[in-house]
Amino acid sequence: MNITAIKGFSDILPGEIETWQFVEEKAREVFGLYNFSEIRIPILEKTELFRRSIGETTDIVEKEMYTFADQDAEGTLLTLRPEGTAGVVRAYLERKLYQVEPVRKLFYLGPMFRRERPQKGRLRQFYQIGAEVLGRADPYVDAEILLLLSDFFAKVGLEGLLLELNTLGDRQCRPGYRQKLLAFLRERQDQLCPNCRRRLERNPLRALDCKEKGCISATSDAPSIVGYLCEPCQGHFGTVQRLLRETGLDYQLNSRMVRGLDYYCRTTFEWTSDRLGSQNAVAAGGRYDGLVEELGGPPTPGIGFALGMERMVLLLKMARTLEPPRPDLYIVWIGNQARSWAFPIARRLRGKGINVEMEGEEKSLKSQMRRADKMRAKLVLIVGEEELVRGKAILRNMDDKEQRETALDRVEEELLAGRGSF
Ligand code: ATP
Ligand code: MG
Repeated sequence: MNITAIKGFSDILPGEIETWQFVEEKAREVFGLYNFSEIRIPILEKTELFRRSIGETTDIVEKEMYTFADQDAEGTLLTLRPEGTAGVVRAYLERKLYQVEPVRKLFYLGPMFRRERPQKGRLRQFYQIGAEVLGRADPYVDAEILLLLSDFFAKVGLEGLLLELNTLGDRQCRPGYRQKLLAFLRERQDQLCPNCRRRLERNPLRALDCKEKGCISATSDAPSIVGYLCEPCQGHFGTVQRLLRETGLDYQLNSRMVRGLDYYCRTTFEWTSDRLGSQNAVAAGGRYDGLVEELGGPPTPGIGFALGMERMVLLLKMARTLEPPRPDLYIVWIGNQARSWAFPIARRLRGKGINVEMEGEEKSLKSQMRRADKMRAKLVLIVGEEELVRGKAILRNMDDKEQRETALDRVEEELLAGRGSF
């Protein structure tokens, strides 16, 4: 039997990868403008890191992690990273990045792993582009993160995304709200799904985020966090909104958006699209002021987001497809001597930035021309035995089908001179 890929794990093939590369390139551009540096963190971390940061009663930790015991004496539990923030914060602490410069703006891109039910826009290995700012508590950086994302969407040409915004309060005010919500939910326990009922006491906010019909209707008139915010949280959220209005970034308030990870506080957000079906969130994130401390570091505020590449690529592909690279020049050769002439020339031209393709085995003129056509080569250079003797070759423009004779010793020069017009 042939060996297949694992369910929910996919290949990104030529034809599609061009869109990925385009997105990654634009991301690097925008991150550069906002002064973010790239960080590459391991794909495998100790399980404990995710348990402590993401939270024991979240979907990710409860049932979605790929965890296994290492083969060391202790059987240390290891997990394929389900998200990037925990690893970035671990690195920030372990490498004492705060000692060099207390404010760090970091971004990452790479695969994440969650054992979820695969469907459109949901895989078990998926890719995220994410960013974290550590060391800044002010609302300007919250707005900056949102503006960065908006600039990024504009740069790749994505329109029509909706920004939903919420605040989750902080250590001062959330406990009060939590109590109120818990009391409200206890009275409607029987309408909640088994999952929400099970974690009601430990994590009542989760019920607001649940996609089950019963939970949605049971919580439709639940108390909203907005009425319970302490003054500093109110001020912070007010400023974030003012900055967005002043910079012309539209948003919608959604007080039910609690996000699926425990470390969030204050500002949280999600960018959604109505063209993705039920997996509609393209990017999401928020503030996590307690996380660094929770992981054993000095009190350090933080905020970040992660963007799902697959969903972004799905949206972009609805708008247009990007073509794979095409040769600037395809050398058609007839006879060994022509091949011997062509091979080093091809290499020299590539060294000068020209994309050159040629065959290694003898094929008919017709079949080489067909191949050049299929690869959408811009120019074809035809070198035969007879042309070689005369020191000539034929240069054919595949777009307008015009062709002319050129001297072999001038080919390189001509191609380089005409590079702009390929
Ligand atoms: P979802 O609403 O899809 O469950 P989430 O709240 O679990 O998303 P986050 O952990 O905030 O997602 O991850 C940020 C982004 O990563 C999501 O908005 C989405 O675009 C993408 N993402 C998350 N899980 C997957 C997955 N299994 N497959 C593909 N993309 C994903
Ligand atoms: Mg999820």
